[in-house]
Parts: sequence; structure tokens; C-alpha cells
Amino acid sequence: MATKQADIALIGLAVMGQNLILNMDDHGFVVCAYNRTVAKVDQFLNNEAKGTKIIGANSLEDMVNKLKKPRKVMLLVKAGTAVDEFVKSLVPLLDAGDIIIDGGNSQYMDTQRWCKELEATGIHYIGMGVSGGEDGARYGPSLMPGGHREAWPHVKPIFQAICAKANNEPCCDWVGDGGAGHFVKMVHNGIEYGDMQLICEVYHIMKNVLGMTQDEMAVVFEEWNNGELDSFLIEITRDILKFKDSDGKFLLPKIRDSAGQKGTGKWTGISALEYGVPVTLIGEAVFARCLSALKEERVKASKVLPGASAQFSGNKKVFLDHLRKALYASKLISYAQGFMLLREAAKVHNWNLNYGSIALMWRGGCIIRSVFLGNIKDAFTKNPLLSNLLLDPYFSERMSACQASLRQVVAQAALSGAPAPTLGAALAFYDGYRTDVLPANLLQAQRDYFGAHTYELVDKPGHYVHTNWTGHG
Ligand code: NAP
Repeated sequence: MATKQADIALIGLAVMGQNLILNMDDHGFVVCAYNRTVAKVDQFLNNEAKGTKIIGANSLEDMVNKLKKPRKVMLLVKAGTAVDEFVKSLVPLLDAGDIIIDGGNSQYMDTQRWCKELEATGIHYIGMGVSGGEDGARYGPSLMPGGHREAWPHVKPIFQAICAKANNEPCCDWVGDGGAGHFVKMVHNGIEYGDMQLICEVYHIMKNVLGMTQDEMAVVFEEWNNGELDSFLIEITRDILKFKDSDGKFLLPKIRDSAGQKGTGKWTGISALEYGVPVTLIGEAVFARCLSALKEERVKASKVLPGASAQFSGNKKVFLDHLRKALYASKLISYAQGFMLLREAAKVHNWNLNYGSIALMWRGGCIIRSVFLGNIKDAFTKNPLLSNLLLDPYFSERMSACQASLRQVVAQAALSGAPAPTLGAALAFYDGYRTDVLPANLLQAQRDYFGAHTYELVDKPGHYVHTNWTGHG
């Protein structure tokens, strides 16, 4: 029998798996590597992993035999069938108390299902969101683990060692039961869609409404990155704007304006609809990608459908300040919506989520890392029961300083014919959220008129009545 020497096994030797293994090795853990296509194990050991403590296995049995107890097996394979197949094969090989960790982008309901199914076996299951791409995996990702809590003390030393740190605090903490970790990762990805689309709209307005050059735009993003918008996505946008191709010309205009997606933004939108939470900004960000994909139709429509003729005639410097504030306000609204969704799902699934700790997990290592998440963490640390980020004193003050700029930008975009779906969604949500009386009274009357759905009386809460609006029997 092989010596039980490995602290953890990792299955899946694609980009994420290889980098996470090397990261674990850097931190002193002995990792046993395995892959469905077994030839990749030796390839990895003889190349990227040469000179490290990393060991390999030629079968699942071999891998399990090389693990210290309780055994920890992490999967970094394609979400869906691949995860299901591996879990099914692992269960007969593991004992009660052993731990399976799925670090892929699995749907949270799959993780909920595995947590439930494995309860009878005593094998612990963790669904862990991993964010930060290849570089994050190698040098410090954001990690969002959830599932069977009993497993956490056994994996905590490994994951808190290899994750990113923000102000010396690990960007990894226990999220909650069942699929909570993967749910939080899904919302993170949705927020990432929102942040990216907001920046794209701002770039579009700079380019098409203000007529700025790429060099000018890069300077503005550089400035913004030194203030409250300081974030990875603003930083890479600056770099992308500056980037020149081998012919000396900017690369960005050569890229086809048709975006792809892998589904996590869509899942956030679907969850928002399922839980009845108005996560409008992420929804618009997903639809903006769908609309961008209709390239041929858009080209045809651009020749037929009239747009706006208004030229920007204001002060460019003043307007750029409006743009910065509009971006900040919209981002805040998007995060407020994301946390609303987390709160509602937590209520439904009895997850005891720590929102400050979630903000800290996103503060470093991942794509949405930013200074702003430090402010969100502070807001939830001060008041863990905060019902909405917009109501935190710091953020309501920021909204009060920025909301007029958001109006200027949305209005200018509309007048100039520049599409700004997420900026517009942010403003519409903001105005809806702060309106004490909405026109939903008319909606209720319409519903009662044609469907006898009844309506509640303002002065008699809980009292529902139906009116015969037409007088017909
Ligand atoms: P990936 O391309 O998603 O998956 C490749 C791995 O999955 C390979 O090890 C492959 O084995 C295995 N695999 C595929 N289909 C399989 C099947 N039917 N049965 C068994 N194994 C199967 O790899 P990745 O990009 O490194 O991502 C791994 C996970 O992390 C995914 O869930 C991904 O969504 C998530 N993630 C990725 C990123 C990123 O930036 N790439 C960031 C965060 C999270 P073979 O070698 O045998 O084909």
C-alpha cells in the first residue's frame, strides 16, 4: 500500500487545477494530482510541477490511497456531468468524515443536492466558489466555501493559506450550509457582468458622445483608478485602452463587438426572477451581451432606424465628473441589488450569511476586487442587519452626492442615442426604491378589473376587496 503522504488531492489538470496545485505546493502542502485523461498527470509532473513536492496518481483508487485522513479531494473539472461522475466514483472509495470539495462553477442547486445525498454516507461535501482566473488560482484566489460545516476546520488551514489577502485578512471564509458558497460565487459573477457592462457604457459615451480618443480615455481611467473607483476592472480597462497591436495601431477597435457568456450572469438573473428580487442591473448586463451578439441584425437596423441627432454641447470636463459619479452610483446600486438577492436566498434556504465577510472575500483575488468592497465590508460590520446597502449612512451620503450626475449621464445618453441599459437600470431602480407611492395601485386595479384578483385597501391593511368595475353582472 502506498504511503499516505498527501494533504489533499486535486482532480482536474486544466488551467485552474494546475495553478491551484502549484499555489498549494508553494504554501507547503503536499498535493496529489489526478485527471480523467491520466496521461496529463505525468505531463504535469514532468513539466509545470517539476522540482515540487507534488505527487500524482494513475487511478482514483491510487489517489485515495495516497491521502492522509480525513481525506480531502478537490474537483476542478467542468461543472455538471463531470462533477456528478467524479462524485459518484469517489463515494465508494471514501469513508465517513472524508471531504469532497467542488471548486468549479457548479450551479448551487447541484451542490445543495450533493450535500443532501451525501448526508447518509457521512462524507462531507463542500461547494466552493473560486474566483480570480488563472492568476488568482496561482497566486491567491478569492474562495467562497459552503456545504457541510463539519468539514470546514479540516480545510480551513489550506484554503486560508492559499487565498488572496486584503489588508492581511484572508479572502476566504465559511459562507454557509448547502449551496451557499456556489450561490455567493454566482452572484459575484453576476456583479462582475454588471461592473463590466457599466464600464463599457461609460467607454461608449466617452467615445461616441464626447468624441474622446483612446489616449484621452486611458488618462481618465488612470485618474479614476486612483480614487474611490480603484478596482481591477478599471485598471485593466486603462491597460486595454493603451494597448497597441504589432502594427502600432490600437487593438481595441479591431475587436468584434459581439460578446460571449458562459452562463453565470444568466443564472443570477434567473435566480433574481425566482426569488422575486429586482436585480435589474445584472439582468440588463446579460441582455446587453445578448443584444451585442445580434451583430448582423444591428448592422442592418443601423441603416434603417433613425437615432438621435443631438450633439453634446456641454463642458467635457464637467461631464466627465458626472460620468465618474454616475459609474460609482450605478455600481453601488448593482451591489445593493446583489446583496438583496443574497439576503432573500439566505431567508429561503436558512443560510446564516455574513455579508461583511462576503464583501471581504470579494475584496481581493477576484475579478471584482476593489477598494469599494472595503467600504461595503465596513457597512455590514457596523450593522450586520443592514437591510439595504443604500441605507448605510456612508453610502446614502455617496448616493446623495452622485445621483444628480447619474441623471445627467442617463439623460445625455438618451438624447445622444448612446445605449446605456445598465446606467438606465440603475437610475430606474434608484427612483423606484426611493418612491413611497408607486403606480402599482393602478396595476392592482387593472388586475382586479380583468381578472378579479382583488386589491388591498390603503386604510385597511390586510383587507382585500373586489370591485365590479363595469357594472355588468
Ligand atoms: P475546464 O475547461 O472547465 O475543465 C477541464 C477539466 O475538466 C479537465 O480536467 C477535463 O479532463 C475535465 N473534464 C471535462 N469533462 C469531463 C467529464 N465529462 N468527465 C470528467 N472530467 C471531465 O477547466 P478550467 O477552466 O480549469 O475550470 C475548472 C472549473 O473551474 C470549471 O468549473 C470552471 O467553470 C471553473 N472556473 C474557471 C475559471 C477560469 O478562469 N478558467 C475561473 C473560475 C472558475 P480531461 O483533461 O480529461 O478532458
